[in-house]
Amino acid sequence: MHLRCSDGQCSTLLDIRDRALSCPRCGDLLEVGLGPGPFDADSLKQIWLERRISSDPRDRSGIWRFREFLPDLYDPGAVVTLEEGNVPLLAAPASSRYAGLDHLWFKHLGWNPTGSFKDGGMTVAVTQARHLGATQVASASTGNTAASMAAYAARAGIAARVYLPQGAISMAKLAQSIDYGAEIVQVEGNFDSALERLLRSAGPEVYFLNSINPFRIEGQKIVVFSLMEQLDWKPPDYIVLPGGNLGNASAFGKALQELKATGLIEKVPRMVVVQAEGANPFVRMWQSGIPRLEVIREPRTAASAICIGAPRSWKKALRALQFTGGLCLDVSEEEIAEAKAVIGGEGIGCEPASATTLAGIRRLIRQKKMDPAATVVAVLTGHALKDTDYIIRAQKRPVSSIESQISGSGV
Ligand SMILES: *Cc1c(COP(=O)(O)O)cnc(C)c1O
Ligand SMILES: [Zn+2]
Repeated sequence: MHLRCSDGQCSTLLDIRDRALSCPRCGDLLEVGLGPGPFDADSLKQIWLERRISSDPRDRSGIWRFREFLPDLYDPGAVVTLEEGNVPLLAAPASSRYAGLDHLWFKHLGWNPTGSFKDGGMTVAVTQARHLGATQVASASTGNTAASMAAYAARAGIAARVYLPQGAISMAKLAQSIDYGAEIVQVEGNFDSALERLLRSAGPEVYFLNSINPFRIEGQKIVVFSLMEQLDWKPPDYIVLPGGNLGNASAFGKALQELKATGLIEKVPRMVVVQAEGANPFVRMWQSGIPRLEVIREPRTAASAICIGAPRSWKKALRALQFTGGLCLDVSEEEIAEAKAVIGGEGIGCEPASATTLAGIRRLIRQKKMDPAATVVAVLTGHALKDTDYIIRAQKRPVSSIESQISGSGV
């Protein structure tokens, strides 16, 4: 097992214990090279199913249950887990109707221990941090990475420091990081400045847990294995997810490649990445047809989790779109708010960034770029309670009328 350059043409290999975040030869991001293999698809499916009734902590995690596709470096007791990854694939009839689609499911990653998909990556990356003997971990974040890292570092007994853009993240996310005991560094500016500051200021004793960390990508990747299992290994036509720093899109691309190569799926779903109009550097690049990302200096969207102008993982994400025959698009603030209300209105709920998925699907249907009979899985990345201010602001009725409704109903 080794780290390798994610640019297939470069093929530089590094030791799996190397802490480099980019290829020393070409500067591209690194990824984990897969273990021994080759695997037999049918026996893997059987093993994963049997583990569901086991009480081994690794089997109780919805991530480590699929550990044949994770780094195999750790003793069973060394895994840092909060039983993450056991989240449902929900049928969503009202949202389907809203989008104009027959079959839509939500994979709700907001129902993870700290309320976002970041937990799937952190369980692996913090396990690796402890394996390397790190005493401090750090990340820059729009809030969810920080909350997740803080929780897993606390479980592992490792100090955590988070760099957050001042005033640009939700109070709930900030409160989580404080609650889990992380050291907070507030940085003026946006996420991109917080990440720059982190990369400049941290010393060699610090282990980095931003989404360019290849071990996080490995954990996040497992979500696709899990959703395929929930669909009885019948791939949907599309998987739709929001794009910020594009770590998750990269992870999904790697998963789909490995699932296909192993014969766990026959057909590769098309991946759709949705960004907010005010923070859409990846969409602009896609539309230009030139594979060179122009940074947006002042990204703007109320969906703070994807308010990112300089996504680090854009090359990996681009390869993922190319591999899956996918596409990307952007949606307006109004479309996000409306879609979010529809998802909430059927008792599911999510944070604003997650609602870009439903907004994006609706657009694709209206533009006749997606067949209404297609089967679609949309990935809800964060919990509704992550950003309650947004909900109150978007609420069209004044609060007093809610009060009178409540008293009028005799409650
Ligand atoms: C981190 C995050 C995103 C963006 O994911 P990337 O991997 O940065 O593209 C989207 N939604 C939520 C809720 C997040 O926490
Ligand atoms: Zn390289």
